[in-house]
Amino acid sequence: MKIFILDTPEFKIDGGAYFGVVPKIIWQKKYPCDENNMCPAACRSILVDRGDRVVLFDTGIGEKPEEETNDLYFTDYSQNLKENLKKIGYLPEQITDVVLTHLHFDHCGGNTIIDKKSGKRIIAFPNAKYYVSKDQFQNAIKPNYRERSSFLPENWDIIEKENALIIVEKDFFLCPEIELKLFYGHTPGLMLPIIRTNNKTIFFTGDLIPARASIPLAWISAYDLFPLTSIEEKQEILNQAADENWLLVFQHDYFCEACYVEKTERGVRAKEAIKFSDIKL
Ligand SMILES: [Zn+2]
Repeated sequence: MKIFILDTPEFKIDGGAYFGVVPKIIWQKKYPCDENNMCPAACRSILVDRGDRVVLFDTGIGEKPEEETNDLYFTDYSQNLKENLKKIGYLPEQITDVVLTHLHFDHCGGNTIIDKKSGKRIIAFPNAKYYVSKDQFQNAIKPNYRERSSFLPENWDIIEKENALIIVEKDFFLCPEIELKLFYGHTPGLMLPIIRTNNKTIFFTGDLIPARASIPLAWISAYDLFPLTSIEEKQEILNQAADENWLLVFQHDYFCEACYVEKTERGVRAKEAIKFSDIKL
């Protein structure tokens, strides 16, 4: 089984929103920001090739920039999912499964692309089934006031129309090595993978733990709809990660791709930052 991290367009997040109630004098020691209080954010996808299936987790902001998104989030398009796939030897047609952790615009914007010839929007991974949780999908098509600007129907409408969207009702195994688990603090039905190789367990932390600095329980993003639920979910998964020596891979941490965690007197804490490509899987 081969596993790769893929960068997609990066952006910036307001530091206050990123770290919620944690004061800036504390978070800025762990995660730097610019003069506008904006923190750089990576937007990573993961690719798992198990031979018979090539599974992609999330598709980033995508290639069809919205002006509003650019102005608010300083999106940097120098990383491109399709080009980064090509660099590791894959074409979009080879992807068999796209797992969407959730439908916020920075996680599923690459689901569709504009066809250069026709100018029409088409499915970016034409041979893939796209998976999303039922709770997340229902939440996205009938959005609440707080999240509604994060949901863009163009990221899923043609996929649904062409019957390529698979709705997931509960935790399940996509294949023996990939467990998908649902969470409800950030947004209803956030679906995150636990990937087991012969000698490693990898947890793609998505928006549950967006950065290494977000590991302490009170460091909850202001974007989370239900912070107390996030705290409970983080506590449970981090305890398991520490007990079973899981590798955490961060989707949004600009400065750190991955780390292990350990139990301390103050709770579960991060070990040193690791580059994913340095790890023997
Ligand atoms: Zn999100």
